[in-house]
Amino acid sequence: MNRDSLVGDIVIVGGGPAGLTTALALIERVPRARARLVVIERDVYPRDKICAGAISGFGDKIHAAMDVRVDVDGEAMHGHAVRNSKGLSIARPGDVARVIRRETYDAALADIARSRGVRIEQGCAVRSISAPRADNTVAVETSKGTFNACAVIGADGVGSVVRRAIGAKASGLRAQVVEVDTEPVESDVARDLLHFDTSDPSLAGYAWDFATRVRGERLVCRGVYKLVRDGDRATDGPDVSALLDERLARMGLDPERYRHKRFAERGFSAMDVLSTDHVVLVGEAAGIDPLSGEGIGPAIEYGALAGDFLAKNLGGSLRGWTARVRRSRLAVDLMVRAAIVGGYYGGPLRPVIDGALARTGAPLEALGDLFGGRAPKVSSVARAGIASLRAAFAAATTG
Ligand SMILES: Cc1cc2nc3c(=O)[nH]c(=O)nc-3n(C[C@H](O)[C@H](O)[C@H](O)COP(=O)(O)OP(=O)(O)OC[C@H]3O[C@@H](n4cnc5c(N)ncnc54)[C@H](O)[C@@H]3O)c2cc1C
Repeated sequence: MNRDSLVGDIVIVGGGPAGLTTALALIERVPRARARLVVIERDVYPRDKICAGAISGFGDKIHAAMDVRVDVDGEAMHGHAVRNSKGLSIARPGDVARVIRRETYDAALADIARSRGVRIEQGCAVRSISAPRADNTVAVETSKGTFNACAVIGADGVGSVVRRAIGAKASGLRAQVVEVDTEPVESDVARDLLHFDTSDPSLAGYAWDFATRVRGERLVCRGVYKLVRDGDRATDGPDVSALLDERLARMGLDPERYRHKRFAERGFSAMDVLSTDHVVLVGEAAGIDPLSGEGIGPAIEYGALAGDFLAKNLGGSLRGWTARVRRSRLAVDLMVRAAIVGGYYGGPLRPVIDGALARTGAPLEALGDLFGGRAPKVSSVARAGIASLRAAFAAATTG
């Protein structure tokens, strides 16, 4: 790399959905920011990211509002199927999500960003970020040289170097996740449903099966998600890889045939500090949904919010980002999901939610509408509320 390519005083670290959406949202509001902006990506596109690839209709809608359409091969999802201790509940309220492969999706999103004038430095790893210097910049040290930045956007995912550099606390909610891609089996639910299995009471988490297309082949991505709470050790409770193998064997699949892809996730905590004068954290570097591990839609939402925030605050301190996130719809959504975690995984909400799902598909209808980016129908919310009250009464009276 020559010296000129190290120009860029607005440095976005990480070219996943959060980083690329931040870049797109910022240049939409401030087109001249293109000349100052660089996205630094450690890998080279097309690069994979361990992920089941279910992207909510809501995430796609945020992109559509920015005139961004990531047109890649995928599977359309029209509802959810949840298997719990009480049986299988299904609701199909319409378009709720699509399942894409991150290898192609992220590369296509990067192509869109480049076509709009965003500079992406690939194969370049950020190693450290200095304390603020006398000239009001920070030094971003990378494998290819140093960028002098007035603003650094940490969009570098669960293992964020930027998060560590600003001394942000490790979030209390982390997850261990493992997945494989297999052929379909007879017991699978319909391919247009996102299937979650919460029937194992020993697991603070769930198993999933999402139809997926790998280079045109119709496969199923299957995995296990386990939450690790503050104070828990990662080795406490069942091992996700062993659980996945047992599940595959029960389906008649030979576990030896499939390569486990294992990774961590970071849940959002409203107590976390997400910014300093020069640095903001977005996407999984900031924290995503701890209940389900959904992170692509939230990463897109963080990006849209950050683009707007940067457009208003570049040149001044960025410290207000933490408060901006806490006031956002996104934070309310993530806090509600975080609040359900304690109650559902091993808590008193489990019989209520499972009981309500056994009574009616209304809660899943409302969830599907929300996930799809639509307001849930009043009738679904009302029916879900009544079913929950009945399930709570039943749980209380049966001890
Ligand atoms: C097994 C598994 C399944 C999942 N399934 C789903 C799902 O179905 N639906 C869903 O919504 N979410 C899912 N998630 C979560 C989702 O993958 C993430 O939350 C989401 O990718 C976060 O987006 P991001 O842009 O914040 O970070 P990432 O997508 O992680 O992007 C970060 C980018 O930063 C780059 N980077 C990292 N460090 C550096 C560095 N030092 N220098 C430069 N670049 C760097 C990385 O190469 C990467 O490109 C899953 C996660 C796992 C582990």
